[in-house]
Amino acid sequence: MKKYFYTDGVEKLGPFTFEELKQQPITRETKVWYYGLENWTKLADLDELKDITNSLPPPIKNNKVIVEKQDEINNEKNIQISPTKNQKKRVRGILIAFVSILVLFIVFLFLKKQNQYKFYQEIKSSAYEADVDFNFYVEKFYRDIAVYGIFPKRPTTSIIKFAKFDHITDATHIHGISYGSNDDDRIEIYVNPSTWNSFKKPLRYYLIYHELAHDVLNLDDLTNSSENEGKLMFPAIASYEAKTMDEFIESSHALFEEVAAKWKN
Ligand SMILES: [Zn+2]
Repeated sequence: MKKYFYTDGVEKLGPFTFEELKQQPITRETKVWYYGLENWTKLADLDELKDITNSLPPPIKNNKVIVEKQDEINNEKNIQISPTKNQKKRVRGILIAFVSILVLFIVFLFLKKQNQYKFYQEIKSSAYEADVDFNFYVEKFYRDIAVYGIFPKRPTTSIIKFAKFDHITDATHIHGISYGSNDDDRIEIYVNPSTWNSFKKPLRYYLIYHELAHDVLNLDDLTNSSENEGKLMFPAIASYEAKTMDEFIESSHALFEEVAAKWKN
């Protein structure tokens, strides 16, 4: 059987049978020798070994160009079935931006909550019993809503105290603040003594009914716009200085009528 040798440029390797040579890590450029050849000869130049030559891939001329070409071909193929690299990058960018905004928003909410809690603790600890019979207003409030068929559960705890919060910049609650609105078992209202003392009778009613509507009926403030002026849940009730008791009765009853309509449904 014919034996073949080849060289890796340094060493002579072999002898191999034809089949064994096929399994060797040779290329078209590998120099081969067998009995009968005068010199080491390039595999590609040997007709006798054509079968082996044809089974080997041709040499790569320019690696980079071929890789780029292949990429181009792949991209063209992929255009309709999957997003390109740029699209993927853009989607990732949007996702990162979205997550960042979400995280910032959560931090913001957390800090806001913490601030509100700190503020609540501050008010609570500085609160004191007022020489005002707030219970009189509460009883009247419950009688008034009962006329409209509104019978909320009577809370077991009722705290209405004075607390100084002139330092608050939020104009909405500079006169009074309610903390029982999401707790049906508790009325917790703090009234600013300096504003209470400066308020005339109708405005006091407006204030305490406004806070009780928050607390007992779980109502929110209306927006501070002219169309809400005169209503009980208008946030800037300090502007009601000139209002009369008749106007107060009218606006509180208008509100109870609205609430009663919702209660029936
Ligand atoms: Zn309010």
